[in-house]
Amino acid sequence: MAISSTSVDYDQNLHSTFASRYVRASLPRFKMPDQPIPKDAAYQIINDELMLDGNPRLNLASFVTTWMEPECDKLIMASLNKNYVDMDEYPITTELQNRCVNMIAHLFHAPIGEDDTAVGVGTVGSSEAIMLAGLAFKRKWQAKRKSQGKPCNNPNIVTGSNVQVCWEKFARYFEVELKEVKLKEGYYVMDPTKAVEMVDENTICVAAILGSTMTGEFEDVKLLNELLMEKNSKTGWDTPIHVDAASGGFVAPFLYPDLEWDFRLPLVKSINVSGHKYGLVYPGVGWVVWRNKEDLPAELVFHINYLGSDQPTFTLNFSKGSSQIIAQYYQFIRLGFEGYKQIMENCRENTRVLREGLEKTGRFNIISKDIGVPLLAFSLKDSSRYTVFDISESLRRFGWIIPAYTMPPDAQHISVLRVVIREDFSHSLADRLIVDIVRVVKELEAAQQTHNTSIVNDGEVSEHRVREMQRGITKYWRRFVNDKKTSSVC
Ligand SMILES: *Cc1c(COP(=O)(O)O)cnc(C)c1O
Repeated sequence: MAISSTSVDYDQNLHSTFASRYVRASLPRFKMPDQPIPKDAAYQIINDELMLDGNPRLNLASFVTTWMEPECDKLIMASLNKNYVDMDEYPITTELQNRCVNMIAHLFHAPIGEDDTAVGVGTVGSSEAIMLAGLAFKRKWQAKRKSQGKPCNNPNIVTGSNVQVCWEKFARYFEVELKEVKLKEGYYVMDPTKAVEMVDENTICVAAILGSTMTGEFEDVKLLNELLMEKNSKTGWDTPIHVDAASGGFVAPFLYPDLEWDFRLPLVKSINVSGHKYGLVYPGVGWVVWRNKEDLPAELVFHINYLGSDQPTFTLNFSKGSSQIIAQYYQFIRLGFEGYKQIMENCRENTRVLREGLEKTGRFNIISKDIGVPLLAFSLKDSSRYTVFDISESLRRFGWIIPAYTMPPDAQHISVLRVVIREDFSHSLADRLIVDIVRVVKELEAAQQTHNTSIVNDGEVSEHRVREMQRGITKYWRRFVNDKKTSSVC
């Protein structure tokens, strides 16, 4: 039998992918192609395009987990085809999510009843968790207002202007006004006194953040609880607190067990936490737990009959993967309290190493606090010659992804760099990063010097260059202001 040298089969089977015509053609971007291509060509082409993405391990912009043990990777791969919502078919997976909810509620000191079961649910991340918690507050407030014969069409939430973008989403999607306490230079979290002043009869809750996205700082939930109790007893209202512990929920219990921020405080009715941040699971998994059954209005809960017993569900999405829930349970039983504690201690220690290295350069002000989520937020002492945006851009050359951004209102004139220290960011990487930051700063300073000299030497051309440079910086700055809450800060 003759083999036709021009046939497609010949091309597919004999040559390497890179010798085939598939790598020669440009890829379809708008319309689905008419014909299939071989699987190895499809794999190679997509794999190669993805090489141009940043390396997740060097992405110091994100709180989200980038490394897990190979054993857990195996469990994840094995459950990729399991739809979480099929509780009847996959009752064990449902059971694992319930166990995770119970463990988290215990960790956050929920007043758990006789049967040891807590009220909560696994979500895609803290954003979905916050939508659910916010909805519960809105419904509770509406029901109470109705029972009092009062109007219930102007609900609001009080937060700091440092809130993560998902709160703004919640406010817009579910028609709740967001009342933001402004920040000021040197104070980058919600001031509890000002927050309580803003509370009125239409406030469905005050949202405090355990681990501000901008600086990692914990807001003073205990003081907020005290002040709000006082106001509630004076006014007869019962304004509750939600804690957005997206990043700090798996840090504080291990590093600062005596810090009271959770259900130990009576007004805290619900808490969200991102399993995919310091819960140490790949994206996306989050959790929301309520203090009591009464804090989650019954009409929001749907009931699924599974294996003859009742499984309540309260989520925005229907189908989703099971892997992340299974991975969360793996981390809980694999690491235990002590394991999480050691990892968080390592993160804190590596934060210290990096902080000391940066302080030694003499160029930076450290904005983040020692107590908080393990991250470093720092600004330039002198940004007249180059900015944190220049540093961020230059560090990309070495592979580091470190965001620079301006602070929220009213501290917009401060811009910072932020490095999130995750489990997989070791001491040696911290040392390496310091070396690269020093190198970049020196380069920027040297470039500036040459530039200044040329300004002195030939006036006209250089003036043009200075203007160009200023335009460049302004453009950059604007881009970051616009992107501030949607891209690099997550
Ligand atoms: C990350 C974060 C969120 C959003 O959480 P996702 O899990 O990414 O949806 C909300 N609030 C705070 C304080 C965060 O840090």
